Amino acid sequence: MVSRVIPVDPFDLVIFGGTGDLARRKILPALFRRYCAGQIPPEAVIIGAARADYDASGYRDFAAEAIREFAPGRSCEDGTLGQFLDRLDFVTLDARGDTGWGDLAARLQQGRVRAFYFSVGPGLFGDLAERLHKWGVADPDSRIVVEKPFGHDLATARELNQTLAAHFQESQIYRIDHYLGKETVQNLMAVRFGNMLFEPLWNAQYVDHIQITVAETVGVGGRGEYYDTAGAMRDMMQNHLMQLLCLIAMEPPARFEPDAVRDEKLKVIRALDDVLPHHIVRGQYDAQQGAENAHPSYREAVGNPRSKTESYIALKTHVSNWRWAGTPFYLRTGKRLKARSSVISVMFKETPHSIFGAEAGRHANVLTIRLQPNEGITLQVTIKEPGPGGMRLVDVPLDMTFAEALGPEGSDPPDAYERLIMDVIRGNQTLFMRGDEVEAAWAWTDPIIAGWVRRGEVPKPYDSGSTGPGDADLLMQRDGREWRGIVP
Ligand code: NAD
Repeated sequence: MVSRVIPVDPFDLVIFGGTGDLARRKILPALFRRYCAGQIPPEAVIIGAARADYDASGYRDFAAEAIREFAPGRSCEDGTLGQFLDRLDFVTLDARGDTGWGDLAARLQQGRVRAFYFSVGPGLFGDLAERLHKWGVADPDSRIVVEKPFGHDLATARELNQTLAAHFQESQIYRIDHYLGKETVQNLMAVRFGNMLFEPLWNAQYVDHIQITVAETVGVGGRGEYYDTAGAMRDMMQNHLMQLLCLIAMEPPARFEPDAVRDEKLKVIRALDDVLPHHIVRGQYDAQQGAENAHPSYREAVGNPRSKTESYIALKTHVSNWRWAGTPFYLRTGKRLKARSSVISVMFKETPHSIFGAEAGRHANVLTIRLQPNEGITLQVTIKEPGPGGMRLVDVPLDMTFAEALGPEGSDPPDAYERLIMDVIRGNQTLFMRGDEVEAAWAWTDPIIAGWVRRGEVPKPYDSGSTGPGDADLLMQRDGREWRGIVP
């Protein structure tokens, strides 16, 4: 099966922070891949804007190096890289001053889509929004793309929304959560709302519980200073896991349109129960010894020997509405865990009675949505173990992995950033968070964090390479359940 690539309209895309880590690792490689796929028209212009003293040629060298490192193995002849690089330009610009803005305004063309990617620290978002207007760089149809973190709590998120709203309509603001750009996340919506099979069972009557795991093997890396002010709750739970929960729990929107989808997600967040203190486990990773893979503890990595910030969190919550009352949602995320694995498991209830006798056991279906690595969806079903010798039952996965079903395109779906940037150019906000969603997520998160601070809670240490603190297992075991394994 060959997927159709529909080219976007010619555009000018300005990457503020165009020399930063995100631009190097994600944005430029994603744009290059879309160019190779034929989605970006040859008239498009991509302008890096940052304080660095590059000219266009210097920026092209920077981009070429980034693409060779972070977009390797793409079937794109050398000539195409040169053509792509020709689309690149650079403006030295200060977000906090007046340097470079007139120059930038002069380089943009009339009558085409303008998008401004804020790939800078959040402290500069307001400065950029203000100067885009002051210098007449943005027009009423311009889009701005805002990276995470979107606020530190409800008050700061609200303030940021207000700052952006002073210069841009909500329909112009694209708040990125790159988890929403993953192929499988959209496929989850296709599976739910494109089939008759699942939706009638998608409720508390048939679903025992839901598990969402986002496990990383990496530590805080070079982000230690920032991370220690945030922690897993702010860095991962409030945004990525919350968004995944919304897509699992939301009602079918009337149409697959931005506000229809976002209205339903918002209702889920607003229906979330407060989380009880004994339904949360926080952890902090220990150092790993040994010649191979030795690394410092969390506290050493962030340079804060008394840090109370969590690098791991597991919690249980409920979506209190007619569909989900009584079905717990277990969410966990952490760093330095056993494997890199992001998985949603919809755990259906066991059959009410086994006609095959006690020895055949009771079985339950599991729908597994794997976001990374190896994106794909499997449904665990029970069948008879082949061969003579009686009725023995065995659980096997019905595999909807794209590699098999969809051929080469399915095995190598576009990176989340590729899809999201193209959606910005197309003007489709479905996979971006609306301001009220972000605020509602913070409104749920804030009291939880305030509780830890009030009680002076210290996270539990856990071994690197493990599945997290033992208390997280107890959280499940107390309910007679267990976590699915963290497997690559
Ligand atoms: P970075 O520090 O590597 O790059 C920052 C960029 O901003 C540089 O190009 C720098 O020149 C530019 N800049 C700084 N001050 C400026 C000023 N006054 N005027 C003009 N340009 C200025 O940061 P990053 O890692 O690329 O992150 C950028 C944003 O993306 C941040 O908001 C970050 O939280 C977010 N983010 C990054 C990642 C990632 O993987 N790096 C992932 C998710 C979100």
